[in-house]
Amino acid sequence: MSHPSRRALLAGAMVVGAASAAAAQDSNRSLAPIVGNKGGTILGPRNDGIAGQNKDFLHPPTTDHGAIPNLHYAFADTHVKMSEGGWSREVTIRELPAAVDIAGVNMRLNSGGVRELHWHKAAEWSFMLAGKARITAVDNDGHNFTDDVEPGDLWYFPSGIPHSIQGLPPDGAEFVLAFPDGGFSEDNTFSITDMFAHMPKEVLAKNFAVKTTAFDRIPDKERFIFPVPVPPPLADDTINDPSGKVALNMKFPLMKQPATASNGGSVRIADMRNFTISSDIAAALVEVPPGHMREIHWHPISDEWQYYIVGEARMTVFGAQSNARTFDYRAGHVGYVPKGMPHYVENTGSETLRFLELFKSGRYMDVSLKQWMANTPHELVEAHLNIDRGMLDKLSKDKQPIA
Ligand code: MN
Ligand code: MN
Repeated sequence: MSHPSRRALLAGAMVVGAASAAAAQDSNRSLAPIVGNKGGTILGPRNDGIAGQNKDFLHPPTTDHGAIPNLHYAFADTHVKMSEGGWSREVTIRELPAAVDIAGVNMRLNSGGVRELHWHKAAEWSFMLAGKARITAVDNDGHNFTDDVEPGDLWYFPSGIPHSIQGLPPDGAEFVLAFPDGGFSEDNTFSITDMFAHMPKEVLAKNFAVKTTAFDRIPDKERFIFPVPVPPPLADDTINDPSGKVALNMKFPLMKQPATASNGGSVRIADMRNFTISSDIAAALVEVPPGHMREIHWHPISDEWQYYIVGEARMTVFGAQSNARTFDYRAGHVGYVPKGMPHYVENTGSETLRFLELFKSGRYMDVSLKQWMANTPHELVEAHLNIDRGMLDKLSKDKQPIA
């Protein structure tokens, strides 16, 4: 009497076992370097989490070839520097050796948490990802600047100009900082606390015309990020500066700029033409709908540093002499493209892809493959590529950044 049910149970177990074995075999194959009759399974150690995020490494397009250096890095693979008040992490030339032009820092300040008064040799460019922050600076002529920044806002502090950033209620802020020097490190900045700790106290006393006891309680080392009481509303938190405010605004509402739109996507540019102070970094915020891509293009005067904000993407970089390599990206990744190398950025996910393109330059510049071909004698182009003339005649002569 128990036999049939036991047999059924066993049969059921066998079916389940077979199904899970088949599933495991499928995942073995899908996460193994096998394309057509090439490649083979992996018998040694595997890291399916990382492998699954890099499908174009595992199954590269057959057009990939040769040696292109690594051009992607995840902030999730970086060391986090933690303080009471927030955290930060960085992708520099030490993490991504190809990124000689720009280093990036991802920083979180809790409400009240302040990135202390400091300056550095490189200029600072930033994009607000979430929350709200108050930024301050005083320039070399004594002009001051205090303002609040929200998601989609940029700020720019010229090299050597002292500044601070503080997270505001209710939940502070998170942003990505970029510095036009791949060798930059957030650990190598000039901080007000560190400087006070390393000046003779009698010199401090003479400088400020007070007794040395005024400095009995100064910190003995850099504070970097630390909690401070939440400041009053902006209008009550601005010093009335007799020298006046800074001549060029250090804040720029990028998301409020008109976008260049094509095929459902958009590009918003911030460079010296509209964000006058930003002499060392030009930027674009790109949005690409699912199924579309940032068209094939290259940048004539500078390398490109990318930061992926939302979504998933892939990019092939062609490095001349038959060299090409395809990389996968997702939110929180940094990408890099050396000057002159053609590339596209294809949305491979199901949501609108959003990323930043940054350049160590005062001016945003790109060359569009399609626009170049459309405006070159078509019989000349046709003779090179043996492609249909009708296709060339139909190409838009205007730049359409999203294809
Ligand atoms: Mn700074
Ligand atoms: Mn580009």
